[in-house]
Amino acid sequence: MSITKADAIIMHSRKQGETSKILRLYTREFGKISAMAKGSRGTRSKYLGALEPFNRVSLVFYKKEGRQLHYLSDASITESFGNLHAQLGKLALAAVACEIIDKSEQDDHSHPEQFLLLLNTLRALDQHKTGLRNIIRAFQIQFITMAGFEPELEACHYCHRPEVDTLLYFSPNLGLYSCSQCGHLKETGKPVSGFVIELLRWFKGGTVANAAAAKVSKSVGEEIDTLLLEYLQTHIDSLLNLKSVSYMKKLEIDLLQYKSNEKAG
Ligand SMILES: [Zn+2]
Repeated sequence: MSITKADAIIMHSRKQGETSKILRLYTREFGKISAMAKGSRGTRSKYLGALEPFNRVSLVFYKKEGRQLHYLSDASITESFGNLHAQLGKLALAAVACEIIDKSEQDDHSHPEQFLLLLNTLRALDQHKTGLRNIIRAFQIQFITMAGFEPELEACHYCHRPEVDTLLYFSPNLGLYSCSQCGHLKETGKPVSGFVIELLRWFKGGTVANAAAAKVSKSVGEEIDTLLLEYLQTHIDSLLNLKSVSYMKKLEIDLLQYKSNEKAG
């Protein structure tokens, strides 16, 4: 057992016994780890709110090789996202990014590029007021690319024509599309509008923060969300049941209902 430091993002935490917490953390150095924070819920805890979800903390812990659960020794906040905690919708989106990371990779597998992607996603959600769903869309396409399943979006796979038609056919399985002239994937692919492919190119190549600026209608947004989720789930089957995605959808319905009630009243 050795005492170790790490730069970590708290993905979620759950209560353990009367006074402790078990944290799921994404660290820059070791990838995902679980850590027990003893006495962290007591009124005189030394952690003082440092262990809230989505905080970035400087972590000191006892690392035991081959063990699933490590023991926290100290944690101090290096970056917190105040706006994120002030809005339920932002929290729900942050939870989507964390759950995708949490469920997709094995523990103790370092992936600094993905750590930065998660960090930049939380920052962008914290800082932006609009286009928040686009931030998560950009996170998803960049995440799946880093995970080794980069989709081919630059041109039609068959004729190499980069201009997009109104209607294209995308194969989640193959991770590529055919234009309507080639029509190769007409039977097996999913019909998708050219605008969706153009947006995905942009989300994939830019920063997650810049994605917030895209103007996406509700129907195009739904088309992108369905396509991205199917693509993720085709290649990483541990992502089949994402609680945070169901919650995000439910929350949106509730918000819409709330708005329409307000109008009616
Ligand atoms: Zn073609």
